[in-house]
Amino acid sequence: MNHKYSPAGNQTRAEMKNPEAQQDVSVSQGIRMMFYMMKPNETSFQTLEEVPDYVKQATPFFISLMLLELVVSWIRKGKPPARLDDALTSISAGVLSRLPRLFSRSIELTSYIYIWENYRLISLPWDSPWTWYLTFLGVDFGYYWFHRMAHEVNIMWAGHQTHHSSEDYNLSTALRQSVLQIYTSWVFYLPLALFVPPSVFAIHLQFNLLFQFWIHTEVIDNLGPLELILNTPSHHRVHHGRNPYCIDKNYAGALIIWDRIFGTFEAENKKVVYGLTHPINTFDAFKVQFHHLVYIWTTFWATPGFFNKFSVIFKGPGWGPGKPRLGLSEEIPEVTGKEIPYSSSASHLLKIYAVLQFALMLAFYEDTFADKAALSQFTLLLRVCFIILTLTSIGFLLDQRPKAAAVEASRCLVFLALCRFGHLKPLIPSLSFVFEIFFSICIAFWGVRSMKQLAAGLSK
Ligand SMILES: [Zn+2]
Ligand SMILES: [Zn+2]
Repeated sequence: MNHKYSPAGNQTRAEMKNPEAQQDVSVSQGIRMMFYMMKPNETSFQTLEEVPDYVKQATPFFISLMLLELVVSWIRKGKPPARLDDALTSISAGVLSRLPRLFSRSIELTSYIYIWENYRLISLPWDSPWTWYLTFLGVDFGYYWFHRMAHEVNIMWAGHQTHHSSEDYNLSTALRQSVLQIYTSWVFYLPLALFVPPSVFAIHLQFNLLFQFWIHTEVIDNLGPLELILNTPSHHRVHHGRNPYCIDKNYAGALIIWDRIFGTFEAENKKVVYGLTHPINTFDAFKVQFHHLVYIWTTFWATPGFFNKFSVIFKGPGWGPGKPRLGLSEEIPEVTGKEIPYSSSASHLLKIYAVLQFALMLAFYEDTFADKAALSQFTLLLRVCFIILTLTSIGFLLDQRPKAAAVEASRCLVFLALCRFGHLKPLIPSLSFVFEIFFSICIAFWGVRSMKQLAAGLSK
């Protein structure tokens, strides 16, 4: 990219470049960045173009921490921390939520740069530790209010509910992210654009997100005095609970102090039952993302009166005519602690098949991000369609939907066509024939199965 956006006016990049900052994180930095323990001098950059994609570089640390959680959970509880079907659905949502980044910079950064370039009041120095610490607080404060509104405004909840739809609580749950959320969260960071350079903001936006990964676990009980200041696994477990005492509590990103200040703090006391108050009981990637938008749409038309319709969109998800803005607390379903989470009835063999196809899709996903500059927009679009089709198909298989076999046969056919026309390349070129044989067998298997289903349906 030729254009070097300079937040510091006429000073050149060479004059201001930070010699201690680097693009690729070391193992020590990688571990520290997952816990917001990077130092200002190693993460201060003059231009936005210099800011590393820390979230992308975090992939091996996501995987390592998930394996560590698996081992610890196995030792302590004798069982894995996650269920396969639920974890696949969570990672699916994470993949879907990042696909728009293949085509453009996030709206959070685009809108921020616009305000900075046109309306900034002062320019804080990009290389001052004071700017770094102030932005740490500012981003966390903005996140608190975004997150609170995401629970209190129905149309914002339509995006954020995705993150809460898992009935498990483990590190994979952290990856269950919404496609829609970013289209409302950007507003809450704009006040910072009046004085904080975009390069500093972009650092903290990433670290704030990464910090929220490790708190999604049940293997850490209590962190003593740190519980007073930090958002911890215990505090965030409460946030993910559907017990009445957990609803609309602990909105913190990195610091729990905001909840303590603004009266939304609740300590963990009873066993937390995770998920939505009305579970969606599906692993369908699209329903996980968009089901609440459909609900708002139908409720909007079913609710009489202009002001009531307006309230359906902008008041809380529990609101109804005649009720307070956030609904009635007595309408929150009680929990017994014996709730059985929705799980897939697919066979073990089918689940292994789903994991294999999911892993292949992840490899293509990583490859697409790595190669995106070299790929045409058309190829990018086709690859994104293939990834979406794969996630849809795996959700259908896990849900045992009647159309799953036909969708999977079509998906395998699409894979072969994309390879044949050069839009996808097998991960190991010398083994391309193995991929062709494997996917041909899959087409035959799922094709025959869907024909049998069709014949059985016609004979009824
Ligand atoms: Zn939330
Ligand atoms: Zn969470």
